[in-house]
Amino acid sequence: MSAVDAVDAVDEDYDVVVIGGGPGGSATAGLLALKGRRVLVIEREKFPRYHIGESLITGALPALEILGLRERLDAMGFTRKYGGTLLWGKDQGTWGFRFTQSSLYEYAYQVRRADFDALLLTRARELGVHVVEEAAVRAPVLDGERVVGVTYAEKGSKQTRTAGCKMLVDASGQNHVLGQHFSMVRWHEDLRNIAVWTYFQGCNLYGGTKAGDIVAENRPSGWFWFIPLSDRTVSVGYVTPIEEYKASGKRLEDIFHEQLALTQEVKALTRGARRVSGFRTIRDWSYTCERFHGPGWALVGDAAAFVDPLLSTGVTLALRGAVALADAIGRALTEPDSEQETLGWYERNYRTFLDSVLDFVRFFYDRTRHKEEYWDKAQQTIDPRKLRPREMDFAAMLSGLTGINDIFYPPPAA
Ligand code: FAD
Repeated sequence: MSAVDAVDAVDEDYDVVVIGGGPGGSATAGLLALKGRRVLVIEREKFPRYHIGESLITGALPALEILGLRERLDAMGFTRKYGGTLLWGKDQGTWGFRFTQSSLYEYAYQVRRADFDALLLTRARELGVHVVEEAAVRAPVLDGERVVGVTYAEKGSKQTRTAGCKMLVDASGQNHVLGQHFSMVRWHEDLRNIAVWTYFQGCNLYGGTKAGDIVAENRPSGWFWFIPLSDRTVSVGYVTPIEEYKASGKRLEDIFHEQLALTQEVKALTRGARRVSGFRTIRDWSYTCERFHGPGWALVGDAAAFVDPLLSTGVTLALRGAVALADAIGRALTEPDSEQETLGWYERNYRTFLDSVLDFVRFFYDRTRHKEEYWDKAQQTIDPRKLRPREMDFAAMLSGLTGINDIFYPPPAA
């Protein structure tokens, strides 16, 4: 993709243009519109559209509250998730965590992303964001070093349009439009995994408040997720290193069936269940961009970095990043001289949280430990003075640090 030099003809002008209408993009756009900004979202697909990433943690809820969506989420009938059940590490039996151990919130949700993402994009529209769907961003428009807009094309049209802006937000997810453009994507070689997943009905769910638990069960070279969605459909996926998959010479769905038969908990939960969809796969998702901002642009959500699905932090990072980025851009637009400082603050906070998630995920992937060692690691990471029980710190880590530790500290004073 080649950059376009500043063009004379700009079709439309906005304060902020956002690439992508997923959670990161919709939330950033909606929050900036709430601050009175003129915002355009350009989204490649027509919503609702399928997306993986169905298990939310309570860390996502503050952003959803600011957007005024909490009651609607309850009304939409998404499965309530009160915690997680793990068959992980050396311990033979199941163990787990409850959000109430550490979070201000009792439960999060297991969501069909098509519906969840459509709700967020609709909310952005309600807040005054101009949304163009079925339009793909092609390249940033540059004026010297500074990004001043984008070119994009609507589906089925040969015409390239240009939108000008004071700030461009890349929320294009794993497509990382600016990451590719500026060659900023750095892969985490030790987390080069592949996932294969499908959907079941008729599973044997737990009772009571555990019915909506995510279940994670490790295998010697991978792990399963089990995520109960509404209408008793369950998402079941297997994650394994790409190298192991390649070396096996087997088809992914055969590996899925073989490994599922060797699980304890997931096998029991899916016994007698019916598979109701085909298999889907995705690979190569763990990376961090070298920079999260530059003159006239910033990255949020998966466009900035994605660690691994193990802790279900993806949507939370996108939403909490959106809150911080909207604050930073809000200030930078009011006081243009502060742009570098305020976006620098955003990047530092985002990276600090990402680094602790990454460090914890790497430790958690070592499945030769007892649960107490995972609790200890959580304590070292977020509570080094041991002010709380280590089990509580573990629950705090797995809830996205709501309530006890905050991800983003207040922005620098104006
Ligand atoms: P996305 O949701 O990907 O949105 C990006 C949007 O940009 C898309 O709608 C796309 O169409 C649009 N776009 C892309 N390119 C262009 C373009 N050129 N022009 C215009 N629009 C464009 N997270 C969780 O929280 N819980 C989980 O349980 C979980 N499980 C996961 C399992 C797997 C196997 C993987 C790979 C990820 C998982 N995630 C999970 C992560 C989660 O899916 C992402 O972190 C989350 O979707 C990020 O949101 P986003 O808004 O940054 O990007």
